[in-house]
Parts: sequence; structure tokens; C-alpha cells
Amino acid sequence: MTSQFPSATILGYPRIGRRRELKKAVEAYWAGKSSAAELQAAAEGIQLATLRRLAELGLKESSAIPGTFSFYDQVLDTAVALGAVPARFGALHDGEGRLGLDAYFTLARGNAEQQPLEMTKWFDTNYHYLVPEIGPETEFSLSSERVVEEFLFAKSHGFVTRPYLVGPVTFLLLSKPADGAPEDFDPLSRLEDVLPVYTELLARLRAAGAEWVQLDEPALVADLDTPALEVSDAVERAYAALAGVPASADWRPSILLSAPYGSLGAQAPVVAATGVEAVALDLFKGAVPSDEDLAEFAGKTVVAGLVDGHNIWRNDLAASAAKLDALRSASVQTAVGTSTSAFHVPHDVEEETQLDANLRSWLAFADQKVGEVVTLATYLSQPEAARAAIDEASRIIASRAQAPGVRRPEVRQRTAALTAADFSRSDYAVRAATQDAELHLPPLPTTTIGSFPQTSEVRGARARLNKGAIDAAEYERLMKDEIKRVIDLQEELGFDVLVHGEPERNDMVQYFAENLDGFDVTVHGWVQSYGSRCTRPSILWGDVSRPAPITVPWAEYAQSLTEKPLKGMLTGPVTILAWSFVRDDQPLAETANQVALALRDEIADLETAGIKVIQVDEPALRELLPLRRADQPAYLDWSVKSFRLATAGAADATQIHTHLCYSEFGVIIDAIDGLDADVTSIEAARSRMEVVNDLETHGFGRGVGPGVYDIHSPRVPSQEEIEELLKTAVAHVPSRQLWVNPDCGLKTRGYAETEASLRNLVEAAKAARGVL
Ligand code: GLN
Ligand code: ZN
Repeated sequence: MTSQFPSATILGYPRIGRRRELKKAVEAYWAGKSSAAELQAAAEGIQLATLRRLAELGLKESSAIPGTFSFYDQVLDTAVALGAVPARFGALHDGEGRLGLDAYFTLARGNAEQQPLEMTKWFDTNYHYLVPEIGPETEFSLSSERVVEEFLFAKSHGFVTRPYLVGPVTFLLLSKPADGAPEDFDPLSRLEDVLPVYTELLARLRAAGAEWVQLDEPALVADLDTPALEVSDAVERAYAALAGVPASADWRPSILLSAPYGSLGAQAPVVAATGVEAVALDLFKGAVPSDEDLAEFAGKTVVAGLVDGHNIWRNDLAASAAKLDALRSASVQTAVGTSTSAFHVPHDVEEETQLDANLRSWLAFADQKVGEVVTLATYLSQPEAARAAIDEASRIIASRAQAPGVRRPEVRQRTAALTAADFSRSDYAVRAATQDAELHLPPLPTTTIGSFPQTSEVRGARARLNKGAIDAAEYERLMKDEIKRVIDLQEELGFDVLVHGEPERNDMVQYFAENLDGFDVTVHGWVQSYGSRCTRPSILWGDVSRPAPITVPWAEYAQSLTEKPLKGMLTGPVTILAWSFVRDDQPLAETANQVALALRDEIADLETAGIKVIQVDEPALRELLPLRRADQPAYLDWSVKSFRLATAGAADATQIHTHLCYSEFGVIIDAIDGLDADVTSIEAARSRMEVVNDLETHGFGRGVGPGVYDIHSPRVPSQEEIEELLKTAVAHVPSRQLWVNPDCGLKTRGYAETEASLRNLVEAAKAARGVL
């Protein structure tokens, strides 16, 4: 009884609400300002609005609308459905064996005794999921039927949706071993134990009336630590259990296995051999499979993921139609979809009325993407009916290439003229000697990562400036007051290299986007970063250049207040790209070099203003790392080069710092070394100094500041504790290379705990110097 797969679909849709209603609702609930019933009502309001909107945009067929709701995170949803809670939380299940909403939020946010589940990046995106903790003893049992309830809710309003779960293979591959699991324990070894729960849930969904269910298996497009053959074997076993017997009214819905974020590669025939009824392929990033490969999918529906769910550019419908023609010849049923869930992009470009109309016409947010998949589905059945829309897309894309600002000769001439010399500085030994003579720093110098607490006064001042309630001069005065306070505090605490605290920055990327040509910013373009946290990425649409110095006046003012060296603070090219929506009409490497040159000019101006230490942050270097190993060297090559291009104009005497905030450092340590920064600060306190082993093995030869204060919580580390961490560091890294600093910026902290923690940090460094 396999029901036909709808001709057009999306793999997911923004969950946060057009006006971030979900954020407001959950945060009010967490703050005790609203009841569970009020939260539920708000959640249903968002779901209903989404269902109606998607139907209105053309997803009218049964099962065309996927599950589009989550109170926090889709991986957590799946963990809670499976009952997979770490033992460290004690009993979270209620008397009926269920995990309710409060248990769910406890896992997401922690409680007085327990840290929340760890959060980590979802594939090569800026979305963060919660990492399930699975051990040999984890008990799996169907513990939440929220996905069934959501299906029934939609159905009661006349919508037959396609419930969504993270598939079993991806779920376990993304999990980490629970505390106390044996060293060699692999969560994937629990596959046979989670499958019965999936089976039970599928049966419940079928009983509720679901015709299709979507199991997301993005892990199949990435090269992970688990060998590919083991992954294939897991796919075979998982889907033999879930789809070995054909879908039927009393057993399970039909299954769509979705593989977003890239191409299935060697896993394609393995997936093709399973009994699932439909497979969603990312044909935006991946190529259309050959006829031969497609033949293996015979009898299944292939959902052609032609419309990019991860970026905001209008689809080249003519190119997509050509891909559909290539698919048409094969012996598969074809449907059209997005390449990934569209929750990586904002709701609706029509909301951005302040944007230039030209720019707006080049963009497609989630709502526009629905229109594109519907058009392409129309093309499949009646090519002529889609012709006008396809031609319009071609015309707009052609006009974009010609539009003012997109390609500027002065910018292009500069990147075209670059030579190898532009990418390198003198030998480190020469630089280090010059810098020592210039800076006179003690051993184990102390510094911070850049931002100081962004107080409500600072944020309030910015809000008032934006509303026109204060003028630029008043705003500048308020920011200068804050800078003075930050400098005085660091002087009092005894820091060696000072920062200005970044009060004037709303966000470390948007601030630069607002001050560079080639970017625009949105008003309503929020996307979920994790839980209720959203970011508003800027749009990098044209050639990038710097019309005027950006950070120089602030740095100069801060330096005028102290005799100590003041560290200028910039965001690096890769991070600016990673946290923006970046133009898709040229290689990222070219765009990165344009940004790098703008930063290079900024560094030159900082030097002229007397700034001797400059930090270029690259916290996102790891994030853009391609999912396939074969693609990684090329990425690391251009990304490292862009950092070097930004910094290599600096004089020998200028000390260049960089900052990276993740601890799985080993995989890209060669690249980090390749940045050739004089000093690198990294996250380490949180992972108890694990990184120093990597540094030692690698023989990292330049300055390095493994963080000794975990800034992610308000907890104040004691002086002794910091001394302990420093002892570990000194045991692995020569002390003359070591710096003492926190894990990351202090922006989200309060002043009270920051002051106490920094005091302990400086005292610990002084004590450690005494015993070197
Ligand atoms: N300089 C930035 C800050 O301190 C770095 C932030 C980051 O690494 N994410 O806020
Ligand atoms: Zn950081």
C-alpha cells in the first residue's frame, strides 16, 4: 500500500517563527513567566501558522509538509523519543515512563547538579545540536510521542504531514560515549537496541494516520571516524529492521531516507539496496548520479534536492531543470525538494523591505524556496507551465552578474595582482626577537580574548542609537566610558596585554559587515543557532572593500589610556564568511581574499596608530571544514592563505595573535600552524587541557595560550585550579611559548564573576612564573 510520494516537498522549515515567537515563548517559560499550557499554546500557534503558510505556498499534497517543529533541537527530540537519557541525570522519566517537557529542557539546559548535554556543530553548518550520551547500559524505551502528537495536531486541522526523526545510524554516529563507558565503547554498537524503539514509534505514527515518515541520515554524506564499511553495515542492518517488510496499514508508514549536506558517495548503493520507499539526495551540492547508479534506485522515489536549503540565493531554475531532465531518463520516480532543511535560512525575503530591490530579487529565503520546488515539480509534469518562472530566474541571475557593486575592477585588480610574497612574513625567529625587544613581556604573559561583559547599559546605548534617541557623539562618549572602565580594570588586575573590550560591536561578524562594502544586513533574517538562540547573518553579495578604517579610532583611544600594549581586535576572513550568507557566483577562496585585503589595510592603519599587538579571530576555521576528507586539503589551503594574506603585511615587530574556540584541535593542527600567527589562543579549560597533548605531539613552535578559564558558565575558577591547569600546560609546552588567557571572549558574562575570575587568573600566572 505504498502511497505516492508528493511531487514537491522541503526537508524542513524554520522552526523559530516569523517573529521569533518560539524564542519568546520558551524563554518566558524558562523564566517562570508562563505556564506549560501557555507554552504549548504558543507552540501550536507557530505550528498552525507554518502549516497554513506552507499549504498556501503550494505544498498541498498529502505528506508534502515535513515535521517542522522542535522545542529546542531535533537530535534532542529523537533522544527523548528513544528514552536515551544519561544516567548522570538520575531519574527523569515520570511514573508512566515518559519524558515530559521539563525533563527535555533539563537535558538541554542542565540543572543545579548537572551540566547540560554538550552542544556541537551540526555538520558543516552554524547550527548546534545536543550530543546524546550513550553507554553500554543506556536503556532505550519509547519515552515521548511528541512527534505523534504533533502529527495528530496537524491532522486535526486538515494537514497530513510527514513526521521527521533523526535516523538511527546518524543518531548513534553523532552520540558520544556516556561517562564511565569502557574506553573502546562505540555508541553504534547499540544499534540493535534502538531499532525496536524506532519500529514501535513508526507503528504508532502509522496508526495515527501518517503515510510517510522522514528519517534524516546526514551522517552518510560525511567521512567520520567510524570506517565507511561499518557505516554501510549499520545502514543495512538498520533499514533491514525498519524497512525490510514493505510499508502497510498496520505496520509502518513509507520511509523517506534523507541525505542532506552532500553526496552519498560510496553509501549510495547501500542506501539503494534498502527497502526504504524514497531517498532524498542533495543534488545542489552533489552531482546527479549516473543512469547506472540511478538504476540501483529502481522502484524508489528519488527526491531531487535541487533547491539549496543552506544559503539564500535564488535558484538557477534552468540549471535545476536540466538536472531534472537527466533524472527523467532513469527508471525512478522523481520528486523535487530542497537539498537540506530550510531551517538554515530566514523565513521570507519579502519582509526585508529596506533592502535594495535588486538585491532582494536575487534572494530566496525559506518561503521563496517553497515556490521554487513547486515550480520545478510543475516542470516535471508540464514543462511549458514552468517556462515563464524559469526564464524569469535566468533573467534575474544574469542581471545580478552585471549589477553595480557585484564585480568592481579596483577590487579584482588587487586580488589578481597578488604574489606569493603577499602571503608570508619573515621567519618566526626574527619576528619573535623583534617583538621581545619591542614589547618586554614577562614569561607567561596574561591577556584576554577580546570582549568584556556586554552590559545592559552598553546594549541599551546601541538600541537608543538605532532608534535615534541618542546621537552618534553621545554613543561614542558612552562607548569610551566603557572602554575606560575595561582598561582601568585590566590595569588594576595586572594584565600584560590589554584589550578595549569590544563594547561597540553588536556581533563580531555583523560589525565588520556593517562597515565593509559588499555586504548588507537584514532586519528579520534570524536563523536558529541553537535552542532559542538565533543569529542574523549578514549578506555578502558584492566585491568587498573597506571604505574607511573600522576599529582604529577605538583601539587608538584605548591605547591612549595605558602604557601597556593594547591588542587590536579583528575578525578573520574565514569567520566572516562562515557566519554570513556568502555570494555563490565565485569560489569562496576569491571572496575570502577580498575580505583579507580589507583586513590587511585595517592592520596597516592600526600599526600606524601605534598598535603593536593585533588579534585576528578565526573561531570558525573548523566549521567550514568539508565533510569529505578528499575535499579538506583544498579548503584548508585557501582558508589558511586568506588568514595569511590578511596578516602578512604586518611588520616584524607587530605581534599577530589568533583565537580559535574549539578543542578538537588535532585534525587541523597543521592548518593552525600554517596560519603562522605569533600567538594562538584556544579553548582548553573546558576540555581540561587536552589540547596540550596535540601541541606537544605536533611540536607547535610559536606562542600559544590554552584557555585556563571556562567562560561558558558563571562559575569562578579558583587560583589553585588555574595553577593546576598551568602546570599541565608547562609539562607539555615549553614555558617560553605559553600565554595565560581565558577560553574565549567574556561578552556573555557578568562583571562580578569576570572580575573575580580574571583576578585569580592573573594571580595564578604570577605564582606560576615564580616556579618556572
Ligand atoms: N574577540 C572575540 C571575543 O572576545 C572572539 C569571540 C569568539 O571567539 N567567538 O568576543
Ligand atoms: Zn572563542
